[in-house]
Amino acid sequence: MSTEPENTTQAYLNGSWKPLSECQVPVNTHALQYGTGCFEGIRGYWDGATINLLFLREHFERLSRNASLLLMGCPAVAEMCEIAIQTVRRNAPRQNIYLRPMVYKRGTGLGPVLLNVPDGFMCYMLALDNYFSSAQGLNVCVSSWTRLSDNSIPTRTKATGGYLNSALAKSEAIANGYDEAIFLNDRGQVCEGSAENIFIVRDGVLTTPDRTADILEGITRRAIFQLAKDQGLAICERAIGRTELYIADEIFLVGTGCQVMHVRSVDRRTIGDGNRGVLTARVQQAYEDAVYARNSAYRSWLTKV
Ligand code: PMP
Repeated sequence: MSTEPENTTQAYLNGSWKPLSECQVPVNTHALQYGTGCFEGIRGYWDGATINLLFLREHFERLSRNASLLLMGCPAVAEMCEIAIQTVRRNAPRQNIYLRPMVYKRGTGLGPVLLNVPDGFMCYMLALDNYFSSAQGLNVCVSSWTRLSDNSIPTRTKATGGYLNSALAKSEAIANGYDEAIFLNDRGQVCEGSAENIFIVRDGVLTTPDRTADILEGITRRAIFQLAKDQGLAICERAIGRTELYIADEIFLVGTGCQVMHVRSVDRRTIGDGNRGVLTARVQQAYEDAVYARNSAYRSWLTKV
């Protein structure tokens, strides 16, 4: 597995296709100087014969909404879907992949502003299997960094600049020997991981922060709602207190990259017996069956390339 894209990969940048190594932006590009971009991460699963892109349209619909919220322009959703499909076709991968489309401010003038600055659009791919190396569950910590609030850099937008917040939390977690950080928001409530949404299980209910908790409105999170509903599992969106993490029966993180990953411990307190919980296992299995096209009920989630 590699998380570095190959330089020879064909990538799309503002209307043309080139090897990734030739897709470059000037050093004074707004997105680089001011963090003014927003992006997506889309997985493609290799089923032995084709790549199945997961929630292709949903990702570009989110990107389009976020770009407009951030006063950025992007190609139409159908066009972006086609560029993503082309990215796969041109590289013909035979393994699981990850697509990274991005809308960004490509202007080079001085001063952080969004109005009257030209927009750019890019898309590239890399091979990606597991995002976390351990299948034994994650040891996580509550971060000393507070999650960005909706009134500063809205985390629901997947804005490039906002990922400095994630990078600080993740780096601190790793430096202290953990696998991942869990943010609290500025109200002190449980928010999300550096790149994942969080679910806890309490009294048999899958519980997750609601959409006003300064989280990214995750596409995997929504898929988990669907899978849970179809299995008759109870779901609740509500504010979660920090110490609920320590007494939860089960905890798992979800996201395009991490898929469904169970949490082994939080701040060195073991969750359950440390192993993957019963409900986590059910959700994880259902998710895997869906994304690897083993359950026809979820075929509409996938775009075959
Ligand atoms: N929260 C954050 C901060 C993320 O970066 C991600 C990854 N995109 C998620 C949650 C999960 O979102 P999704 O399921 O849409 O990948």
